[in-house]
Amino acid sequence: MAKRIKSLHTDLFDEAVALFCHATRPVALTGAGISVESGIPDFRSPGGLWSVFRPDEFATLEVFLRDPEKAWKLYRALGEALIDKEPGSAHKALADLERAGRLQAVITQNIDGLHEKAGSRNVLEVHGEHQHLQCLRCHFLRPFEQKDLFEGPVPVCSDCTFPLKPNIVLFGELVREMERIEAILDRADLLLVIGTSAQVYPVASFPYAVKANGGTIYEFNLEETGLTHAGDFFIRGKAGTTVPAFVQAVLQQEG
Ligand code: NAD
Repeated sequence: MAKRIKSLHTDLFDEAVALFCHATRPVALTGAGISVESGIPDFRSPGGLWSVFRPDEFATLEVFLRDPEKAWKLYRALGEALIDKEPGSAHKALADLERAGRLQAVITQNIDGLHEKAGSRNVLEVHGEHQHLQCLRCHFLRPFEQKDLFEGPVPVCSDCTFPLKPNIVLFGELVREMERIEAILDRADLLLVIGTSAQVYPVASFPYAVKANGGTIYEFNLEETGLTHAGDFFIRGKAGTTVPAFVQAVLQQEG
C-alpha cells in the first residue's frame, strides 16, 4: 500500500526524496496528465477528444485504411490540440534529472513531443509521435505541417501516393520500442509514474514489472489510480508543482 504524500513539506516527502537518492537506475513513465498544464487536455475527461471522436470509430488502423478522410477528422483535431504547445515545469524537471545523471530514460505514452522539447534525450515514445506523417506502404516520413491541418484532401505520399497518417500508434497497430523498454525496465530499480491513469496496456503493466524485480514505485497524480495500492509512494497534486519540487529536493540533497 503506497504511503500517501499530500503536502510537499512533510517527513514523508523527505523520506521519498532520501530513498530516491539511493536508487541507481531510476526511470520515468509519463502519461497525458504531465501535459495537461501545457494546455493539452487528457482525452478521457468530459469534453476531451475521446468524447467527440470515439476511439473505436476514428482511431483504428482499420478506419484509416477504409476511410482516410474520416480518420483525418481526428488527426486534424489532434494537430490543433498539439500545435505550439510548450513543455511545462514537470517536463523540464525530468530533463534536469537526466542531465544530472539521475534518470536513465523517460518512457512516455504521449505523442506531443514535449519531453524532447524540454531537453530530455533518452525518450521512448510507446505510442509514436504526432510531429511527422508516415506512409505505411513505403515508410516515407515527413514533418506534419501547418497546411495539413486545413480541411481538404488527405495528404498523400510524394513517393507512392498512398494516404499519409500521423506517426502515431493507432488501435490495431503494434506499440513501439518494446525491446528497448523491456531492457530498461529489467534494470530499473525505481519508477516515477507521472500523470497516467495506468489503464492502457501494455504500459499499465510496466510498474508491475519493475515491482516484481524488487523496484520502488512513486506515483505523481491528481487522484489515486488502479496502481496506487501497489505503489510505494503516492504524491498527490499537479505534476507541474510536485515533480519540480521533488527533483529540486533530490538534486539539493545529492549536492
Ligand atoms: P489518461 O487520460 O488515461 O490519464 C491521465 C491521468 O493524468 C489521470 O490519472 C489524471 O488524474 C492525471 N492528471 C491530469 N492532470 C494532471 C496534472 N496536472 N498533474 C498530474 N496528474 C494529472 O492518460 P494516459 O494514461 O496517458 O492514457 C491516455 C492515452 O491517450 C495515452 O496512450 C496517450 O497516447 C494518449 N494521449 C496523449 C496526450 C499527449 O500526447 N499529451 C494527451 C492525451 C492522450
